[in-house]
Amino acid sequence: MRVIPIPVLKDNYAYLVIDEVTKEAAVVDPSEAKPVAAAVKREGVNFTTIINTHHHWDHVGGNEELVREFPGLRVYGHKRDRDRTPCITHLVDEGDTVRIGTLEGRFLFIPCHTSGHVAVYFPADKTVFTGDTLFIAGCGRLFEGTAADMYNNMVKLMALPDDTRIYCGHEYTEKNLLFALTLEPNNAQVKEKLHWARAMRAQQRPTVPSTVAEEKAINPFVRVNSTELQANLKKQFPSLSLDPISVLEKTRFLKDQF
Ligand code: ZN
Ligand code: FE
Repeated sequence: MRVIPIPVLKDNYAYLVIDEVTKEAAVVDPSEAKPVAAAVKREGVNFTTIINTHHHWDHVGGNEELVREFPGLRVYGHKRDRDRTPCITHLVDEGDTVRIGTLEGRFLFIPCHTSGHVAVYFPADKTVFTGDTLFIAGCGRLFEGTAADMYNNMVKLMALPDDTRIYCGHEYTEKNLLFALTLEPNNAQVKEKLHWARAMRAQQRPTVPSTVAEEKAINPFVRVNSTELQANLKKQFPSLSLDPISVLEKTRFLKDQF
């Protein structure tokens, strides 16, 4: 598998996922058609498949134009999004699979940011595309779900092998790490990652992918059991209960205003 991040819009990533054996390719979350079509041509791949993690325009905006330009494209999205994902052809749910040549991806249903949000996980390639649910050092807004839903999503994604590569929907890493430091100012790995992310962005390079192991070390929405994070939340919200869902909810509340 080869994954090529395609920067689109202001800070979104679409991903070209190439099976190097057959040269068949898919694109995850094509917000815009033109940069995706250009990458397909440049790489000389057989583009057969669109995978949408969720229905938001900044993830499906290129579907119609791509389907016009590449007739016969298969378009995968969660069945709940059948009426809000343009050109959808394959309605999926937890455990369904997608084939791209010799690659096989498995859908994980992770509703909360939207009620039809999925990730697609390629176990043989230790790679997962998490859309707007799990960002590097962050998570998506809880538009159509609860803190309990997002907590369950974090648990589900963090149960993947530690060396799984994580490709997310937006380049929010630097800001997410700055926020993480407000709750865990002594987390050395957060500081180190921030330093690295700034250097990458200064060269216009993407900060994806991270890994499951890294998120366990730096992501405040995963680190709901950190004593430092909990203590800093308690300073601001003395009556806060320290169960993981309440901690995630308050952390998200603070991030919404950061
Ligand atoms: Zn979204
Ligand atoms: Fe988005």
